[in-house]
Amino acid sequence: MFKEVRRRISRFAQAIRTMTSTFFVLGDQLSTEVAPWPTLPIDTVILMIESQELISQPRHLTRVSLYLAAMRQFREHVIALGFTVDYRRASNFTQGITAHRKQFEPTAIAMNTPRGRHAISLFTKLGVDLYPDPFYLTDIEEMKTRKKRPATLENFQREQRRRLNLLMDGDEPLGGQWNFDTSNREPLPRDGGTWPEPWTVSLSTAEDALVQELKDTHPGEDALTYWPRTREQALDQLRDAVERIVPHFGPHEDAASADNWHLAHSRLSPALNMGLLHPSEVVEAVMTAFAAGKIPLESTEGFIRQVTGWREWVWLLHHLRGDEYENLNFLAANNSLPGSWKEMGDHEMRCLDGVLKHLHNYGWNHHIERLMILANAATLAGINPLELSNWMATTYVDGAQWVMEANVIGMGTFGDGGQTATKPYIGGGNYISKMTNYCKGCKFSPTVRTGDDACPLTTLYWDFLIRNEEKLAKFNRIAPQRRAALGRPDRQEIQAQAPLATKILLQNKKGV
Ligand code: SF4
Repeated sequence: MFKEVRRRISRFAQAIRTMTSTFFVLGDQLSTEVAPWPTLPIDTVILMIESQELISQPRHLTRVSLYLAAMRQFREHVIALGFTVDYRRASNFTQGITAHRKQFEPTAIAMNTPRGRHAISLFTKLGVDLYPDPFYLTDIEEMKTRKKRPATLENFQREQRRRLNLLMDGDEPLGGQWNFDTSNREPLPRDGGTWPEPWTVSLSTAEDALVQELKDTHPGEDALTYWPRTREQALDQLRDAVERIVPHFGPHEDAASADNWHLAHSRLSPALNMGLLHPSEVVEAVMTAFAAGKIPLESTEGFIRQVTGWREWVWLLHHLRGDEYENLNFLAANNSLPGSWKEMGDHEMRCLDGVLKHLHNYGWNHHIERLMILANAATLAGINPLELSNWMATTYVDGAQWVMEANVIGMGTFGDGGQTATKPYIGGGNYISKMTNYCKGCKFSPTVRTGDDACPLTTLYWDFLIRNEEKLAKFNRIAPQRRAALGRPDRQEIQAQAPLATKILLQNKKGV
């Protein structure tokens, strides 16, 4: 199934036989099973750097401890393979590479291409040779030079399905349809549903000490136990996800619950984004279970789409676009990211309160909590897209610049004015009430637009459509909502209520 990917990787491996005395590994490249490792001469020095500049930023405790714990265990793994490892703590990467060069005098330093544009630019300037990124299914160089690239995610995903022969019946999709979104959009069950317990693995003594060392300087709770730090743990999490979780993924993939932070999400993204798992083995495991009748077609399709479609697509977009993309702000949204969100503290709105608590407790939200609640609220309240993107990139356990850019600036906030999505992804309280149980017990009412009980998201949903009506005129897919807003008899009252709704959304429960 993945012969093409493996052929490409072995092509890269051939090119690397001629290298180099130092191979540099970042915290999101933690695999010795990808190129160039199988052909790396054993006298190569492996360089790893803990950057104080990154560690000292106010990132979520679980995120910082996860990366450091995984890097330290990877160091032990590489030493056990027989390599010399220069594992150093430095004030930043520049200082670390300079100090390494001084001590080891390597003939050259090489690394696999970093996943983000900023990192590529930094390490290129530092004279590090970059080899093709082996952590994805798509050949980015081929994509860059193609005359005609897929214009939309849907086209890209169909191309991936055909190229990788996934869920295909000849040239047609298995089951007669390319996606099962209509079956996969069920709201949360009325009784809240029953969800598989999350996979966990206990902390080693060294990991426990690491968490103790970091906990006074980083926000959030310690949730390291929920995330794998080694290759073996990641494989175990994958096995468990395929057996117990992915079979239930599809139907409620667009729902969210105040009482459950994970639902039937696999939570494999941190392991994938750190390199502990390769997308090809994740897809292969799910396809094998599907072939054995253990995962229904709808859930398989929904899951495969996330890994081979959306994940690869946002990575490609990040590299096909230039640095100017990150400053796009089509809706002129200039409110700062509120301190109440950064603190992940108590909030008057039950939906924001719950999502921020999930983030505080686990360093993670599933994609619907990120998109339907956080990014939606940010869009409606005019929060700056880049600020939101940077915060998510550095707070979430699976966050990164390449992940968040298209997700937040494109899809989540419509900052790119339609380059990624065909319309702004917005919803008022009614939609949140339909798909989640957050509104039950909230002091606001999802159906009310004005007055003391008005749901801030409902007020701002209509206010957004009214205040942006000119900018939205060219986007056909939002025309019905725009027309409805134009025809609202209570337009003035909504606009009069909007500043209060924005204030409630931005402040915490104490009103600050
Ligand atoms: Fe959120 Fe509005 Fe529902 Fe309250 S009523 S939980 S503020 S959507």
